[in-house]
Formats: sequence, structure tokens, C-alpha cells
Amino acid sequence: MPDPATPPGAAARDGGVRPDSGPWADAAGRLTGLGVSRGRAAGPLLRMAPPPVLPAPRQVADPAAEAVTAAKALEAVTADLNRRAAAALDAGGAEAAEILEALAMMADDPMLREEAERQAREGMDAAHALDAAFTRHRDELAALGGYLAERAADLDDLKHRAVAFVLDLPMPGLPSPGHPYVLAAEDLSPADTAGLGPDVLALVTERGGPTSHTAILARGRGLPAVVACAGVMAVPDGTVVGVDGGTGEIAVGLTEEVAAEVRQAERAERARLAASTGPGRTADGHPVKLLLNIGSAKDLRPGAEGVGLFRTEFLFLDRTRAPSFEEQVSAYTEVFEQAESVIVRTLDAGTDKPLPFLGLPEEANPALGVRGLRVDRLLPRVLDTQLDAIAAAARATGREAWVMAPMVTTVEEAAAFARRARAMGIAKVGAMVEVPAAALRAGQLLREVDFLSIGTNDLAQYTFAADRQHSALADLLDPRQPALLELIALCAEAGRQAGKPVGVCGEAAGDPQLAPLLAGLGVTSLSMAPICVPAVRDALAALTLEECRQRARAALA
Ligand code: PEP
Ligand code: MG
Repeated sequence: MPDPATPPGAAARDGGVRPDSGPWADAAGRLTGLGVSRGRAAGPLLRMAPPPVLPAPRQVADPAAEAVTAAKALEAVTADLNRRAAAALDAGGAEAAEILEALAMMADDPMLREEAERQAREGMDAAHALDAAFTRHRDELAALGGYLAERAADLDDLKHRAVAFVLDLPMPGLPSPGHPYVLAAEDLSPADTAGLGPDVLALVTERGGPTSHTAILARGRGLPAVVACAGVMAVPDGTVVGVDGGTGEIAVGLTEEVAAEVRQAERAERARLAASTGPGRTADGHPVKLLLNIGSAKDLRPGAEGVGLFRTEFLFLDRTRAPSFEEQVSAYTEVFEQAESVIVRTLDAGTDKPLPFLGLPEEANPALGVRGLRVDRLLPRVLDTQLDAIAAAARATGREAWVMAPMVTTVEEAAAFARRARAMGIAKVGAMVEVPAAALRAGQLLREVDFLSIGTNDLAQYTFAADRQHSALADLLDPRQPALLELIALCAEAGRQAGKPVGVCGEAAGDPQLAPLLAGLGVTSLSMAPICVPAVRDALAALTLEECRQRARAALA
């Protein structure tokens, strides 16, 4: 293992903004990635190990000994899960404890053990015997369908743990040490990120881009996060690190005293930001609504003027069965009850946000394939059920339903969506502008819908032909680029002419340097992760509308 003071990649990538004084300066080593979720955290780093790769089968000299090793692995996995369940219970996580106990029972299944022992006695090495036994049980469960089929993925996770034990590799999956920690991972899926417990202080990944959905989920939770951080997986477990989710700086090898100082300063900063209130206004009083991007009612925070983007697919990321109408009504009702004005986005599945219950076919080029509104071409009932559920939740709470579709590309798609949504009783229908074709036809779109919401994350991805998850293409995805700003200006002008709202709900809206510029381009609202609201409010209040317009003109030029 390399010396934590000089982790690989530190020298090569050490060019980011670096505070040269204060606790950060005391670090023994540094790493730099892309800061994607503001805030600082400090604590021991733990790595999420990848699933083990099964080596080629080994010639077995003593089959009985292999059978014992396989059984011991299952015992060890069971004991580890029970220990983690007890730690979760101690930390007040009754639900997490229940899940871990259920997994422990699955690992302790006598039929599973007998099958692994049988395979070993017949000549397989312990790792392959376990693999074969788990695979057989998994297939049996998957064939039963319904709830049991959902447990098949759990068996894969248990298999990886048991095989890692036999091969003497670090346990794959999320660590659960029973104390707060900084999570390091090669990469994290949106479903992994959504499931992170409160003991995760910050996350750092080797891969990933600034507008990837993993980054968005971290921001939504106010969790400091750094992506594209080369070398972080070489930092030994337990090393105390500081994470600056704004600058992307990782301080490696802090003392516990310095880490405590960082945490204390962060608590003070969060209290200061939480005290900021009031509507979005430029210095001369021009209103620009400050709205929230949320994935569920849990993300709601006071201090904003409503919800500008409710990403409903975040509710169902790990589901293998379709959420029922009733379940959806209850999830939407929970949000409507707590927020007066909410723009609900219909399910945006596909690319890095697969929704397993949709059962969509694999695609060679998923970002350009059946995603967002396009899923309706294959599965029209999904949209109808969702629109019906949103309308029902709005009626139940006395709210006016505002609903928009993701990935609208043509005026015809927008018109068809608007007809269906209105027929279901949706009051205000909108289209997201995430595809250059839609931006170019903003005026025509606004003849069909009541509002537009510009998704700069995808609009940048499709304008610059650069995968938003690609850590090496972040410069191409920078929303300051004139080509993107011109598309935004076009939409804002179309909104002005039609007298209809045009907001921005991509991550650019939460950037305090960009927010005045977007206001200067003429957008009527900015929707962002709750943690971004105070800084954006301050940035708008510091400039007049004319100064915002000057910035916009300069950027376009
Ligand atoms: C966007 O693309 O900018 C957007 C807001 O949608 P998402 O990030 O969920 O794709
Ligand atoms: Mg999008």
C-alpha cells in the first residue's frame, strides 16, 4: 500500500484551488478532484471495495477442507451482518437493522450451505462452490417472480461477500463501521448514493462527472462530494481525510484535532446559511424565483419559494416492481402537503438512472435511446398511471398540479404530452428543454405548454456531445459556454414573448456565479439543491438587473 502522505495522483492533479492557511494547510498529502457538492467534512476514510473477480478454478487436493472453508465463509458473512445490524440498532436505525438481519438469515440458510458443501465435496474449490450454490438459489428465486425475485439481487451481494472472504479480499459493498466516515469508491450508482446512511460524512469517487446523478443526489442531501479524484482508492482505510466539496480538494492525513476543527467550522457555516431567507430578488428588486430540486419529501427545506423540479424517478431507483397507483399518490401527497407550489417531473428513466421495474431492453447507446418521455413509446401505461396519481394527490391536498415531461424533443411530443396531462386533470403542463432541438423550437413549444424548464445538465450533454458522467469531459460540459447560453437566451426570449415562465433547473441554477448571468438572460426562476439556495440568493441580491444583463451580454460575446 502506498504511503498515505503521498498518494498516487496527488502530484499530477494537485492544481486545484487550494486554501494555504487554516486546518487544510496541515494535511500530509493532497488529492484534487472535481468538487460537486459544497461543504467540508473530515473523518476516517473507508473504501467501498468492488465485487471480487472469480479466479480460474483451482485444482482441489482436499475436497472436505474446501467444504469447510465454504461453510466458514457463510458463517463469517452471517456474523458480519448480525454485527452490523446490532450497530445499526444502537445508532437508532431500526429499519436498517431489520434489513441487515434479513440478509443475515439469507446467508445462514442451511440449504445454501449444504449446496455449497456438496459442490465442494464434488471437487470445486470453495470460491467456485459458493458461486455455484448462490447462483442456483438466485435463479430459483428469480423464477418465482414478484417479491421473491426482488431478493435475487440480495443473493448476489451475499455471494460477493462470501467469495471475498474465501479469497481474502476486502468485503465488497458499503462499509458499516459503526462510526461516521468518508466514503471512497471507484464509482457509485444513483441507487447506491440514495441508500447511503447518515454515517457517511462525505463521498469521494475516482470516476464520475459534475452533473452525474450521483453528484446530484449528494448535493440534494447536502453531502460534500468530490468526483473524478484520481488516487483516492489508494488511500488506506482509516486515514483521516478532509473533503472540500466546493474546491474538490482532499486533505490526506489530518490529525483528529484538525478534523474536529473542520467539522466545527462546517457546523457554523451551515447555521449561517440556514439563517438566510426571503424571495429571490436582484438588488433593484427584479424577482427571480428560488426553487428547490428534490427527490422526495425528505429533501424539502424551508427558505425557498417552492419546488421547481421533483425528480420522481429518485423515489423508485431500487425497485424491481412497479410502484402502484396508491403508492405514487401517497409519495406525491407527502410533497404537496409540505410545499405550496411544486413542479413534478414525470419519470425520467434511462442511461445512468435505470428503473429496473420498467424492464427496458439494453441499448448500445442509452443516452441517445429510449429515456425520459421516450419510454412512453414502449410503455404508455406508466405515464398514464403517473399522471393520474399526480392529479389525485393534487386534488387530495387542494394544490394546483404543475407537471413537466423530461427529454421532450419535438413540438408534437410536447403537444401530445400536454393533451394527455390535461385530460387527466393536470392544471399546468410544461416541457423540459434538455435537447437542442427543443431549445431551437422554444417559441413553438410554448404554444402547446404553459411553461418551460431548462435542464442544463442534459442540454449541455447533448449540445456538446459529451457524456455528463465522463470525468475527463467536464470542461466541455461547462454551462458558461456561449453555445449553451445562447440556447438558454432563446428559450427565455420565447417565454418573454409568450408571457409564460421559463426557468432553469439544471445544476447551473445553483451556481452563485452563474445565477445572475441566467437572470440576465431572462429566466424567471432558478431551481437548485436546497444547500445552494442561500449563496444564490446573496449573489442575485448583490447586482441590479442591468448588471446581470451586462454579465449575460459579456458571456454571450
Ligand atoms: C437536467 O438535465 O438538467 C435536469 C435537470 O434533469 P436531470 O439532471 O435529472 O437529468
Ligand atoms: Mg435531464
